[in-house]
Amino acid sequence: MSSTEVTAARVSDLSSTYDVEAIRADFPVLRQNVHGKPLVYLDSGASSQKPRTVIDATVYYYEHDHSNVHRGVHTLSQRATDAFENAREKVRGFINAASDKEVIYVRGTTEGINLVARTYGDANLKQDDEIIVSEMEHHANIVPWQMLCERTGAKIQVLHFNDAGELDMHEFDALLSDKTKVLAVTHVSNALGTVNPIKDMTCKAHAAGAVVVVDGAQAVPHMQLDMQDLDCDFYTFSSHKMYGPTGIGILYGKEALLDAMPPYEGGGEMIKKVTFEETTYNDLPHKFEAGTPSIAQTVGLGAAVDYLDAIGLDNIAAHEQDLLEYATACAAKVEGMRIYGTAKHKASLLSFGLDGIHPHDIGTILDFEGVAVRTGHHCAQPVMQHYGVAATTRASFGMYNTRSDVDALFTGIEKVQQTFAR
Ligand code: PMP
Repeated sequence: MSSTEVTAARVSDLSSTYDVEAIRADFPVLRQNVHGKPLVYLDSGASSQKPRTVIDATVYYYEHDHSNVHRGVHTLSQRATDAFENAREKVRGFINAASDKEVIYVRGTTEGINLVARTYGDANLKQDDEIIVSEMEHHANIVPWQMLCERTGAKIQVLHFNDAGELDMHEFDALLSDKTKVLAVTHVSNALGTVNPIKDMTCKAHAAGAVVVVDGAQAVPHMQLDMQDLDCDFYTFSSHKMYGPTGIGILYGKEALLDAMPPYEGGGEMIKKVTFEETTYNDLPHKFEAGTPSIAQTVGLGAAVDYLDAIGLDNIAAHEQDLLEYATACAAKVEGMRIYGTAKHKASLLSFGLDGIHPHDIGTILDFEGVAVRTGHHCAQPVMQHYGVAATTRASFGMYNTRSDVDALFTGIEKVQQTFAR
């Protein structure tokens, strides 16, 4: 059996109805106590846990198929290449890209955005061109554009959000002009949960002649994506937030744009022919994949795609929306609790503060209750600056969370408040 068959066999066991207990049973890491309490994992926004199929596919690959890809005629090299390229095709289908040439393997979202800023950005932007960047971006979708501005003299125009965490669409219309060359925006905010209207924004940005770069890190695990429908030019995401391994991610780009862009890194794999006089570059997608890639991780990513497909993104989204509504209703009853991010369209996370209590204290006390949340600025310091806080506490829900996980969070919050009331 190949690693792909192992995954397919395992996934076919899954019930077609949403059975959260069966899903939980697929995640070995969830079966443990932390500080003597059952683990309640509410940090999937930072990194999700991995189902058995992803772990098994990775182990199977190392036990049976591992070799370097694309360079060998021997059997193991061919098997490794097949597994590596099959995963690409799975991802292509998963996001409905038009061609697997448009699916570039990168380390993750961060590398995807840096690649676009370095290659498309350096080749196309010049002094006084403008890049619209929203105020709710992760640092990964701010700093590469600032660096591009330093190199080219282009300028960032900040698109602000209101206190509910919704982007100001009037400001967006006003910012767009023939100077706008790039719109860099997140599909879902990791600090607020806001789901942005990417399709509409893309349409408007295109009308102004700009390309659209979407940070999809927080969207991919929560909603069905369709690149051809969204019509954005670049879309990037990380496997480790969608139940796959770390160290691998995807940059989707429209073929015509990728074709015209210079390569990112130079080295093996990305060339056709090298002489000291002249080097020619490989075809897409390999032109952007210099060096030995993260092969086992792509196999694991392929298994994660199979797993998500088997359960169904629409089913996952419905389950997570129920958790969000339940948690939001619980939060409304807690005195002194403030939710950051109350957008109408919101993914399943709760970023909050408790009056007079530092988020790090909240996180530490919750950890002693077995509840894992994230505290800090969430690599989105402009979001913190918007609200005038240094940090928030964030509970983010994944496909395996339950209403009793939410109950455990709020029991923990009660404990936190009692501790500080003394
Ligand atoms: N963008 C967003 C919205 C994120 O949540 C994250 C991860 N926290 C990133 C970008 C960066 O992802 P990675 O570290 O996997 O490159």
